[in-house]
Amino acid sequence: MLSTEIEKFITQKKYPSLQPKAVFFDMDGVLFDSMKNHAAAWVEALNKLGLPFTEIDAYMNEGRTGASTIDGVFNKIHNRNATEEEKQQIYKLKSSLFEARGEVGKIPFSFELLKKIKAENKEIFVVTGSGQPSLIDSLDENFPGIFKKEKMVTAFDVTNGKPHPEPYLKALKKSGLQPWEVVVVENAPLGVESATTAGIFTIGVNTGPLDPKILSDSGANLVLNSMEELYEKWEKLF
Ligand code: MG
Repeated sequence: MLSTEIEKFITQKKYPSLQPKAVFFDMDGVLFDSMKNHAAAWVEALNKLGLPFTEIDAYMNEGRTGASTIDGVFNKIHNRNATEEEKQQIYKLKSSLFEARGEVGKIPFSFELLKKIKAENKEIFVVTGSGQPSLIDSLDENFPGIFKKEKMVTAFDVTNGKPHPEPYLKALKKSGLQPWEVVVVENAPLGVESATTAGIFTIGVNTGPLDPKILSDSGANLVLNSMEELYEKWEKLF
């Protein structure tokens, strides 16, 4: 069954094969169990300023840069983009509310999967819309020995965040690999859109409250229910 998804993808894309030499991981909701805190912080920050926003909105917007999320809300309510000042004010508030919620844990089986992939001598990249300066430190603390600074694409590296394909295209460029030599692991609809538009086989892992159909509708080539399921099926897939 799983190899059917891969064959379908290769045929559709007219790729010579699909033999991953690298795996590109999204971060929030894939490696870190951080989305609940992000969603709550977004809701609190925007509602405080009288802007309607729900936790489901936060999950649907996951992957966008902060500025793009804020512009989306402003356009809906005020028919205009937010000013730079408004963006900074809201993002600062959102970030402090997120920090106040304390440290986030790992998504179960994410570290186990990373270790398995490393043991197969495949390269591991992080492709995230996040822009915390301490990113590499918290990745190192939680997943020692897995990540390298030069194998990351963050908010600082791109002009256009997800759902634009730029983050994943940048990661391809950094890796020097072809799209048929890479697999993406994403949890968010806009992240899936970004990766599939970049032409990469994308596994949607539904770690949040959304209907899994949203991930397949966004173009995910395979949808799984948890990182544990991906960990267990990994060898069967690749
Ligand atoms: Mg994510």
